[in-house]
Amino acid sequence: MDSSGGQSWNNDVGGALASALASGSLLVAVYGADDTLRYASAAFRQLFQLDSVDATMTFDDLIRRGASRNCGPRIDCGDVAAFIVETQTRRRHQPGQRCFATDTLDGRWYWMTETLLESGWIIVFGSEISPLKHSELALTKAHSEALYEARTDFLTGLPNRRHVLSYLDIVISTLPALQSAQTPLSIALADLDRFKSINDGFGHLAGDDVLRDFAHLARTTTRRSDVIGRVGGEEFLVVMPGTTPEEAKAVLERMRSAAEARVVPVTAGREVRYTLSVGITEVSLADSVDDAFGRADAALFRAKKLGRNRVSVDGVDDA
Ligand code: GH3
Ligand code: MG
Ligand code: MG
Repeated sequence: MDSSGGQSWNNDVGGALASALASGSLLVAVYGADDTLRYASAAFRQLFQLDSVDATMTFDDLIRRGASRNCGPRIDCGDVAAFIVETQTRRRHQPGQRCFATDTLDGRWYWMTETLLESGWIIVFGSEISPLKHSELALTKAHSEALYEARTDFLTGLPNRRHVLSYLDIVISTLPALQSAQTPLSIALADLDRFKSINDGFGHLAGDDVLRDFAHLARTTTRRSDVIGRVGGEEFLVVMPGTTPEEAKAVLERMRSAAEARVVPVTAGREVRYTLSVGITEVSLADSVDDAFGRADAALFRAKKLGRNRVSVDGVDDA
């Protein structure tokens, strides 16, 4: 079949294209089989700060020259040689067309269409898509910020109730796999003691400072694999995959005694001390989130009843 669609390419057509590309923003570059640059549109020459094209400069030369003059494509890794190797592997891999977005050191984005012909020649077209790309990037950023806000407790920066409970739900759904690997799951519910009296005695803002102090302490005394979220005013849930109740007790005892030692500076040179009580339970295969949460809450209630500033484990008589 005639791949030109029956159209003849004559000097008039070439001349018309050449004059269109002598100005305007379309990037066009043609490389020979030896990879030297044979033609570059005005926009392409401007991008690479080229005065003329004389068929002596290869693609590699062009990229190196651009990097040294701070023009041309942005090389994220900063390693020009590695960028050239990686790009060459793709652009000369096999005849055909590949399309991709690329950004340049002057902050613009282009949609590139690169064709490797059977003859080894390469034809590149690039149209500027900066406005589209910038609004896409702004949308992506806004989306991830919205997602973060929907999942995060504003005061402490910890996962919020909805997020930590849905995380627990997900971990429970993986319990069959965890248990076949003999991997336990424990949760702990921690509640600050007599927090109302902190608010009453020092003011609500001081109470907020204490909550932030505890959130920081809780993050630093748990392991990376533990997830801690704020499930109520002064109530926090710790989800601890791969942890037996005994191990969880050791972790929460550490947290409890660290909290006991904290002195939080609040307004007018005053200092607040605080303690917490904790209920721990192991989560089993048959549990729903509510079942597990309910047992941890009952153990917490027991810790409160036994005098506060202590850690109780569900099913363990520690009176
Ligand atoms: P217990 O030892 O039995 O847990 O006593 P408590 O005083 O800690 O418990 P209670 O449930 O009576 O009081 C909790 C208090 O936490 C009441 C509420 O005003 C306060 N609170 C809830 N959310 C916030 C908050 O975001 N900031 C501050 N400062 N206080 C809060
Ligand atoms: Mg409390
Ligand atoms: Mg409470």
